[in-house]
Amino acid sequence: MKSLPFFQFASTTTDNRYSIHEPRWCGMQQELLDIEADFYLPVEDLKNRPKSLWRYREAIPIASSTPLVSMQEGFTPMLPLVLGQHHLHVKQEQLFPSGSYKDRGATVLMTQARYLQIKSVVQDSSGNAGCAIATYAALARISCTIFLPEETSEAKIVQMKAANACIERVPGSREDTARATWKAAQQTYYASHCWNPFFLHGTKTFAYEVWEQLGYKSPDVLVLPAGNGTLVLGCFIGFQELLRMGLTDKMPKIVGIQAENCAPLVAAYQQNASHAIAVSVQPTLAEGIAIAEPVRGGQMLAAVRQSQGTFLVVSEAEIAQAFLLVAKQGFYIEPTSAATIAGAMKFCNHNSDCGTVVTLFSGHGLKSGDKILKMLK
Ligand SMILES: *Cc1c(COP(=O)(O)O)cnc(C)c1O
Repeated sequence: MKSLPFFQFASTTTDNRYSIHEPRWCGMQQELLDIEADFYLPVEDLKNRPKSLWRYREAIPIASSTPLVSMQEGFTPMLPLVLGQHHLHVKQEQLFPSGSYKDRGATVLMTQARYLQIKSVVQDSSGNAGCAIATYAALARISCTIFLPEETSEAKIVQMKAANACIERVPGSREDTARATWKAAQQTYYASHCWNPFFLHGTKTFAYEVWEQLGYKSPDVLVLPAGNGTLVLGCFIGFQELLRMGLTDKMPKIVGIQAENCAPLVAAYQQNASHAIAVSVQPTLAEGIAIAEPVRGGQMLAAVRQSQGTFLVVSEAEIAQAFLLVAKQGFYIEPTSAATIAGAMKFCNHNSDCGTVVTLFSGHGLKSGDKILKMLK
C-alpha cells in the first residue's frame, strides 16, 4: 500500500493540526509542536543512493522537488570499537561539516526555511546547534542571528562569525537568552533545535542509518546524550517510523546520559515524574549536555520509558577518563562527547548481557582545545 507522503504539524497539548507549509515553530497557545507523518520508504532502492542522510528522502517532511540545503552530509561511519572491554558500535558524528551531529537537524530545518522563502532566522545556543544553524544558513544564503549567553566558548563563536552570523550576547541566564530569542523570533523565523520539530526530523536520520548499517535491524541498546534531547527524540521518532512500516521488529532501549553536575532528567526519572525536575547545577566538562530546563524534557522522559531504557549520570572523573581512553586510540572528540562514551561503558558494566550497543562521538575536539588542555595537565 503505497500512499503519498503525508506530514502535518500536531499540537502536543490540543487537538490542533497545522499545515506543514506554514512558517511555524509553535502552536496557537505557544505550545510545542510535533510532526505527524505517513510515508513509505523504498528500502530496495536505498543501496543505490548517495551516502548522505538525504538517502531517506521520503521520510523527511520536505515537499518533493524542493532544492536541498545540503553538503552531502551524514551516513557517518559506524565503527566497532572495544572500549574498556566492551564492544560498542560508535557512530562518527564528529565528522559532520560543522563538527557535530547537529548538522542533521540543520540541513533539514534550513531546507524547509528556504522552501518557505524565509529571509532571516534566529536561534539561541551556546554551542554546536548555533554553529550548525549558522553554517546551513550561510549555505542557504539566509541571514542568521545567534543569541548567546555570556559564557559561550570562543571557538564556537568564531565558527558562527565565520559563517557570517550576527552574534547577540544576552546578559543573565540561559533562560534570559531564550526569552530574548523568542521575542526576536516574532519578527523572523525561529530555527530552534528545541522548538522547531523539523530539527528532530533531521536528527531522526541517525536511527535510519544505524538500522541500515546493522543490516536493516535495530540494535538492542542506544546510548545517547541527553541535553535538549534532539537525538533521544530523533531516534525515538525514527525507530517508531521503522516499526510502523514493518521494517524492524523492535524499539531499541534508549539510555540517556547526563552529567552528574546537571541532571534534571535523571532526578525526574528516579522520582517517576513526568517533567524535568529543577536541580542545582554545577559547571561540567560536558557543557553540551548541561541543560537545566530542557524544553522537551517531558517528551524525553516518555520516550526513554516507552523504549524500556533508562537515564544514567556520569561524574566529571568518568568523563575525563573516557575522554583520555578514546583520545589515546586516536579519536579527538569534544569533552561533552566523552560523557556519552563514559555512560555507554557504565551501562555495559551494569548489564553484562546487553546485546548490540550503539553509541556515538557527538562532536569534534577541535573546538575545545582549552578544555582538553586542562584535562591533559
Ligand atoms: C548538542 C550536543 C549534545 C547533546 O544533545 P541534545 O540534543 O542537547 O540532547 C551532545 N554532544 C554534543 C557535542 C552536542 O553538540
